[in-house]
Amino acid sequence: MRIILLGPPGCGKGTQAKMMVEKFGIPQISTGDILRGAVKEGSPMGKEAKKYMDGGLLVPDEVVVGIVRERLQNKDCASGFILDGFPRTLPQADALTEVLKELQLPLDRVLSLTVDNQALIERLSGRRTCRECGRGYHIKFDPPKKPDFCDACGGSLFQRDDDKEETIRERLTVYENQTAPLIAYYREAGILAVIDGMKKIPEVQKEIDRLLGGGLD
Ligand code: ADP
Ligand code: ADP
Ligand code: ZN
Repeated sequence: MRIILLGPPGCGKGTQAKMMVEKFGIPQISTGDILRGAVKEGSPMGKEAKKYMDGGLLVPDEVVVGIVRERLQNKDCASGFILDGFPRTLPQADALTEVLKELQLPLDRVLSLTVDNQALIERLSGRRTCRECGRGYHIKFDPPKKPDFCDACGGSLFQRDDDKEETIRERLTVYENQTAPLIAYYREAGILAVIDGMKKIPEVQKEIDRLLGGGLD
């Protein structure tokens, strides 16, 4: 099963990807997580990426395409993968098409999660992330049992620097301009499925299950 989760910041890609990892046993490839890892390590790539991420702008295509190209060659991708947050521009989508052709790993589905801007702002401003295991929470919609600590590993939760109001608005504009055109791109490719991301987390998950169960061999 080879899937792309497509949608604006805060639509629920990470949340759904983590549940799919558990259910289907295939890896989640989140370019955002990989880039944040590089920033934390302080590698040259991380230092370069941070300049863009802090402002809510996209990291240059060559950087993220390089990351994904390498990651997809890892053995664990042979049984499938979930791309979360990649591709985000038309050149990234074209590059991915090429890489997957070389590797002979055609995409099965692109799941496009739709959520309106008001809800996205509310989701992003209440998002919290576990410092240890990366699991996401929401202070209102998906709160941890013990405030500020992760249910899964007990790690402390933090708010991402780019989940502040001004940066959120910039990211939503960047999404409209640079990423939203990918919906038409994958519709034309005949593999797009649109999912109502406004529903509650378990309902969105059910919808994804239904789609994948029904449409894949
Ligand atoms: P969100 O889950 O809120 O959409 P991500 O964790 O996916 O955010 O991405 C955080 C930041 O990392 C983005 O704002 C961008 O700067 C950078 N980034 C992640 N994926 C990509 C990508 N495919 N292309 C360019 N930049 C990316
Ligand atoms: P993305 O990876 O697309 O940026 P996340 O999965 O990190 O989005 O979700 C953003 C925030 O919204 C998180 O705090 C998450 O707990 C919450 N969230 C995710 N899905 C839903 C949903 N269906 N309804 C309400 N809140 C949600
Ligand atoms: Zn944790």
